[in-house]
Amino acid sequence: MKKLTLIVLSIVALFSSCKKEQHFEIVIKGGLVNTGEGAPSVNTDIGINADTISYIGDINVKNADKVIEANGLVVAPGFIDMHTHLDPIFKYPDAKSHVTQGVTLALGGPDGGDFWPFGTYLDSLSKQPLGMNVAFLVGHNEIRNQVMKMDNREPTAEELDKMKSMVEQAMKEGAFGISTGLKYLPGAFSKVDEVIELSKSASKYGGIYTSHLREEGLGLIEGVAEAIKIGEDAKIPIILTHHKVVGQPMWGSSVKTLAMVDSARAKGIDVMIDQYPYTASYTGISVLIPSWSRAGGQNKFIERTNDKKLKDSILKGIEFNLLNDRGGGDLERVQLASTPWDKTLTGKTLKYWAESEGMEPTIKNGAILVLKAQINGGGSAIYHIIDENDLQRILKYPFTMIGSDGRLSAPGSSWPHPRAYGSFPRVLGHYVRELKVIDLPTAIKKMTSMSADRLHLPKRGRLKVGNYADITIFNPKTIIDKATFLEPHQYSEGIEYVLVNGVITIDKGLFTENRGGKVLYGSAKK
Ligand SMILES: [Zn+2]
Repeated sequence: MKKLTLIVLSIVALFSSCKKEQHFEIVIKGGLVNTGEGAPSVNTDIGINADTISYIGDINVKNADKVIEANGLVVAPGFIDMHTHLDPIFKYPDAKSHVTQGVTLALGGPDGGDFWPFGTYLDSLSKQPLGMNVAFLVGHNEIRNQVMKMDNREPTAEELDKMKSMVEQAMKEGAFGISTGLKYLPGAFSKVDEVIELSKSASKYGGIYTSHLREEGLGLIEGVAEAIKIGEDAKIPIILTHHKVVGQPMWGSSVKTLAMVDSARAKGIDVMIDQYPYTASYTGISVLIPSWSRAGGQNKFIERTNDKKLKDSILKGIEFNLLNDRGGGDLERVQLASTPWDKTLTGKTLKYWAESEGMEPTIKNGAILVLKAQINGGGSAIYHIIDENDLQRILKYPFTMIGSDGRLSAPGSSWPHPRAYGSFPRVLGHYVRELKVIDLPTAIKKMTSMSADRLHLPKRGRLKVGNYADITIFNPKTIIDKATFLEPHQYSEGIEYVLVNGVITIDKGLFTENRGGKVLYGSAKK
């Protein structure tokens, strides 16, 4: 008996001598630590001082100011959102709808961007009490609009030079690269050569190129080919953002698009993808309207609708899109989300709207209503037009990262796509735990180290000594999205703790008043 006690005692002594006796401000104790690199989790502790991970290994908690008990919880690098609509950030600097998904860094300025001057915007944002880190791309649409307004033409040599110098200026002010939204105005008026030239300006300063493709429906294959060509000619790493296949005629085409990415990569073109985990998209109602009819802005558009011949051809264009593209061939697939001109329609389908006007829910009548919506000033809609098989195929693809495409939201404000509240927990709860489409370490990697590497941020996206303490701790058994298309304003569940630069922002599942977020600047900023 005595001998056994001795053995036990010496084992205990040996064990505790391995424990770090150093003082830590925060210790995360006993969690399943996943470094974010795709390997299985390891049961260990993390010590944090100030904004940095100081130690990973057994820690004696007597020497900690604060202990986070993480038994049974997964301790991961904070999630990185590769596609975020951050435009309401001055209204919601706490970014609660994102932080409650476990996101500690969001990349803004997608789809062609929405602000200028670039540096001024970042500087004023850096004075805000931010709930998460933010980084930005400079947008092609914004720059084109500054230089050429809504003109449907190619730029002159001077205009192109001006746009190039604006991209370079933004890169030097901290942009991480350039984004395009070639489906939107005025980007839709540009030819590929213009985008190649501007991407070269971003590439020169180490930037990336993120492409909302020119087409994601019938023209998807050409859209992917165009983005790959831009990557090849401008020698710039590219991301096919929110990659998806829109509309039944094209469903299944992700087999082809992923093969295109594979063969581009084999040729040395650096292509990656990001994706949100939903079978519906969200964008302006104007996506259904032929872009030529909107050249020159809203007044010009209304002028054209007053011309019988032009109006007929606009309606034909809308009908085509309702049948083959975002309309999905059925008015029930178009769910109105933002309708400031008639709030009773918010959240309702185009079919509902037609019936409430006493109209048959035909494509022809749908087009008449879409035109009416745009004349009223437009708005946004949710389009239920993505096939689950394409979604899962793209999610499994090894070079796909996660990007929510969500807009910062708060209960009571408009009708967002549920991705604004649920993208990351939905991947972990629905696609990992429930459907087992990918495993947990792979999913975490797609949200962390892959994204940090893409943004050239060596000190984020991995749990490693010396890295910033951006950490998300979640319960793998309960994590899930709660937001739905009919009740979008629902925070996710199962995110127990979030640390942003070492600041505990979510504590025992509760969103606190603590703010640790920063504006991150790209490496070209001096
Ligand atoms: Zn987009």
